[in-house]
Amino acid sequence: MGNGLGKVIQPIYDEVIARNPAEKEFHQAVREVLESLGPVLAKHPEFGEHKIIQRICEPERQIIFRIPWTTDKGEDMINRGFRVQFNSALGPYKGGLRFHPTVYLGIIKFLGFEQIFKNALTGMPIGGAKGGSDFDPKGKSDSEIMRFCQSLMTELHRHIGEHTDVPAGDIGVSAREIGFMYGQYKRLSNKWEAGVLTGKGLAWGGSLVRKEATGYGAVFFVHEMLKARGDDFEGKICTVSGSGNVAIYTIEKIHQLGGKCVACSDSGGVIYHEKGLDLDLIKQLKEVDRRRISEYTKHHKDAVYKEKGNIWEIPCHVAMPSATENELDGKDAAMLVKNGCIAVGEGANMPTTPEGVEVFLKAKIAYGPGKAANAGGVATSALEMQQNAMRDAWSFEETEVKLHKIMKNIHQLCYETAEEYGEPGNYVVGANIAGFVKVARAMLAHGVI
Ligand code: GLU
Repeated sequence: MGNGLGKVIQPIYDEVIARNPAEKEFHQAVREVLESLGPVLAKHPEFGEHKIIQRICEPERQIIFRIPWTTDKGEDMINRGFRVQFNSALGPYKGGLRFHPTVYLGIIKFLGFEQIFKNALTGMPIGGAKGGSDFDPKGKSDSEIMRFCQSLMTELHRHIGEHTDVPAGDIGVSAREIGFMYGQYKRLSNKWEAGVLTGKGLAWGGSLVRKEATGYGAVFFVHEMLKARGDDFEGKICTVSGSGNVAIYTIEKIHQLGGKCVACSDSGGVIYHEKGLDLDLIKQLKEVDRRRISEYTKHHKDAVYKEKGNIWEIPCHVAMPSATENELDGKDAAMLVKNGCIAVGEGANMPTTPEGVEVFLKAKIAYGPGKAANAGGVATSALEMQQNAMRDAWSFEETEVKLHKIMKNIHQLCYETAEEYGEPGNYVVGANIAGFVKVARAMLAHGVI
């Protein structure tokens, strides 16, 4: 990255690297936030005096545990489970669980670190955490998934609770997995404690709009960025990487706002459909049948599937990376800008590499970083917690209105903070500073803990 960290922040970052060796995604996430904080320390010397940055970079608690389980064929398996309870200055630890073979401590710490600031930006009373396992759900039967989730919760249950730590989903974890984990938690605790997990099924304490929230929220955020430039989604060509929960509801909301999504992807390849993606088919393939996106072309002969293709080569006005970290690099970003892309909204966490971010910022396109743009998911988790605490359930419309308002507020906060710090239009600076200042103020008030 071109930006230096400066005399005060560089040694803090060097210490993070030395204390957390070989956790490259965590280093990347920390650096990205620290690059914005020089002017904040200048304005708030009390944050420096009390070592708030050093404290924020050190998780309050990290739990690593064994998850033993048995396959349908009777083979014993061992996976590793993680829960990093990063920061509880603003509320109980909150953040998802990821099941993916790439999971190790560095991934969970990057996600947990991002979650602190994202959750602060929502304005809801939630701290930051993340967890998960290196378990690969691909090709596993329902009963294998169930036994795995039960084994994970047999350990995790002693560390969580509605006032302590509230996990939810992330990659590889949706309502099915949350259901199995909730059942085991209920059995172990002998309590109906709905607020201990979010992303629950609608029949047993879940919230309407939670499933749609990350995607819808990301589109609301991009819409606000476009509006700030006197534009909107009408007639915009869009590409959305991924085809999981975030991507599906990103596509749905873009279509509702008059845009046209022409491409999505999965780890196998890219689908391009010039006349616009058939979302009902994608939902059937991905949500119901759990199939590969390549099967899309069986139903639409005019669509093209490119194995191992690069979705960012496809010209678009709006790009929404909604798959995973570091999926969009400097070259991809340059290609998008060259092809006329005017806005990027991150549905995934840290999907753009530092080189890619630099390209977007230099080109001065509207770039919404994940910690702001994808905060609608966790914000709606907080709405789910509110409904659980009230033993109430709101309508779809009522909940979506609340989500929309939260996303508008996040946009405004980032926009105004960027202006205040002399970087108008830079949502990276706006999100990092606004999120950090909220957490830092609360930490100061709580004393040296
Ligand atoms: N995993 C989601 C995120 O990255 C949601 C977390 C939650 O709902 O707690 O924000």
